[in-house]
Amino acid sequence: MSELEAAPGAPEFAYRQGELSAEAVPLARIAEAVGTPFYCYSSAAIERRYRSFAAAFADRRAGICYAVKANSNQAVIRLLARLGAGADVVSEGELRRALAAGVPPDRIVFSGIGKTEAEMRSALAAGIRQINVESEPELSLLSAVASAMGRTAEIAIRVNPDVDARTHAKIATGKKENKFGIDLAHAPGAFRRAAQLPGLAPVGIALHIGSQLTELVPFELAYGRAVELLRALAADGIALRRLDLGGGLGIRYHNERPPAIEDYAAMVKRVTDGLAVELEFEPGRWLVGNAGVLVARVLYVKDGASRRFLIQDAAMNDLIRPSLYDAWHEIVPVRAPDDRAERRPIDVVGPVCETGDSFAAQRPLPQVAPGELLAVMSAGAYGAAMSSSYNSRLMVPEVLVRGDRFAIIRPRPSYEELLSQDRMPDWLAEG
Ligand SMILES: *Cc1c(COP(=O)(O)O)cnc(C)c1O
Repeated sequence: MSELEAAPGAPEFAYRQGELSAEAVPLARIAEAVGTPFYCYSSAAIERRYRSFAAAFADRRAGICYAVKANSNQAVIRLLARLGAGADVVSEGELRRALAAGVPPDRIVFSGIGKTEAEMRSALAAGIRQINVESEPELSLLSAVASAMGRTAEIAIRVNPDVDARTHAKIATGKKENKFGIDLAHAPGAFRRAAQLPGLAPVGIALHIGSQLTELVPFELAYGRAVELLRALAADGIALRRLDLGGGLGIRYHNERPPAIEDYAAMVKRVTDGLAVELEFEPGRWLVGNAGVLVARVLYVKDGASRRFLIQDAAMNDLIRPSLYDAWHEIVPVRAPDDRAERRPIDVVGPVCETGDSFAAQRPLPQVAPGELLAVMSAGAYGAAMSSSYNSRLMVPEVLVRGDRFAIIRPRPSYEELLSQDRMPDWLAEG
């Protein structure tokens, strides 16, 4: 049976005795220990998602490289690595996180259009599985770096299939006007060059057409084009053994109907049928997005001239998705509201000095009073990982729950730590 996408969030977040809980831990208990705002992730939810992704491809040679940028806390990476996940990284920082979290180097793929020479050297020194090259100049540089180190870099070339992912423009990556990958028309030439350059061993084709895709059609179009290219290259004497199909599978935030993993897998198997290649996937959001919530406290309820505002203590620096992508997140009171409670539209906003610091506009919510807790659902991906200390707010802490236990996996820093990051130049040192 297909897994029904939970709305809102994962089923591991449910009301127990009137209190929204993560697995067996009431969120209010964590709030007492950690303060607000904080992120809370459910281990069981992440494990369940990983297992269902892996199960959908159990009958194929397939590797899952978790896209670390979705949630880069090392505890989350390790949880996934223990289940067998590799990692898809896009910077040296992420590479180091993945290695420190225990991901075996031969399960790490390095993606991204702007790898520096230093990053290439680190990746080659670590002996990672594959570097996904996104341009001709990158091919040249990687060839030079690998040759100088006496290494051979196994590479995939990321192609740009020119497919409309039909997602938010800021997270669509597969159209020819996007900065990612090499155009299909130029890809055969790039592969031929890569096969001749010293220090490079082309082993695969990679693609990733965007994030939060809620339909199969764009995937199918893009994958079909990659398979065509694979066949053309084989006919041309360039035999590749891997097909890296990227991430991007969407989740349910509101009323989206993203494809079930089984349907996605069936499509992939149909498109790649008969190919003797190993498949690679780079899911990020799909694994962790619904497995996390951001918990905030209500500070004030303010009646404006034309609108009512709920001012909470979480802000755009903690979760930027509503401001950056106009993203919709379900917001619910942590104490179960009375079913009959009247819901009135209210703007849920944070304390940051920007009008864009808004989590929801005219959202029908039951009455909540200052001091009460709210949960912003489905905040496990691109939440904490994109947070900052803008407005000199302390970086939001992260908590991981497992059954009836919880652990702080990134503490809230102190103000001393925040202030100690700046340095005075000596000409300003006095006074
Ligand atoms: C961001 C990214 C992913 C993960 O995308 P999701 O939508 O979170 O699954 C995978 N691969 C690459 C190359 C990416 O840039």
